[in-house]
Amino acid sequence: MITTAPLVEEPRPIYRVSAGETRLFHILSDRVTGVNTHWFGRSYLCIGAPDCPACFAGVEQRWTGYLPVADHRGNRGLLEISASGGELWERRLSQGKLFDSVAKIERPSRFACVRVAELRPAAKPVGTPIEPEEAYRWLMRILGMPARRPNEQFPEWVGRVRVAAQAALQRCVGDRNLASE
Ligand SMILES: [Zn+2]
Repeated sequence: MITTAPLVEEPRPIYRVSAGETRLFHILSDRVTGVNTHWFGRSYLCIGAPDCPACFAGVEQRWTGYLPVADHRGNRGLLEISASGGELWERRLSQGKLFDSVAKIERPSRFACVRVAELRPAAKPVGTPIEPEEAYRWLMRILGMPARRPNEQFPEWVGRVRVAAQAALQRCVGDRNLASE
């Protein structure tokens, strides 16, 4: 008898480009997926005022954008884009030339955002972009949020994610208050 172990999906990697570094990525989408997070030793999903316990407690919120890319080995993941680079990337992507290109991504200094230095057509185009819902699924997996159930509607799943994020942040804020007593 052949038994198959249940498929547990590994979280996708997040690709960060450090100051002075350049890296090649195959760009797999023409949309940046952005989320707000709070930092409590790791990033936690912010669900926004008035429901977010961390926003309510005045904890700083950070926007980060993520663009689906593949590295030189073809491993798919998310390129991290800081808040200062969000508009630049939206503008570049809206021109419609980045998807399915291989881009040399650079970050000239610590204060600069990641940007495209050079562009060339991909040797093996994928043709179909990664949809924002798929990128969101990767991101929620990375942030430790509940997985989407088979046949679950997107809004229903987002509702469950919000409930889980709220509970997680409630614990973080509670722990922080205990620590400061
Ligand atoms: Zn928040």
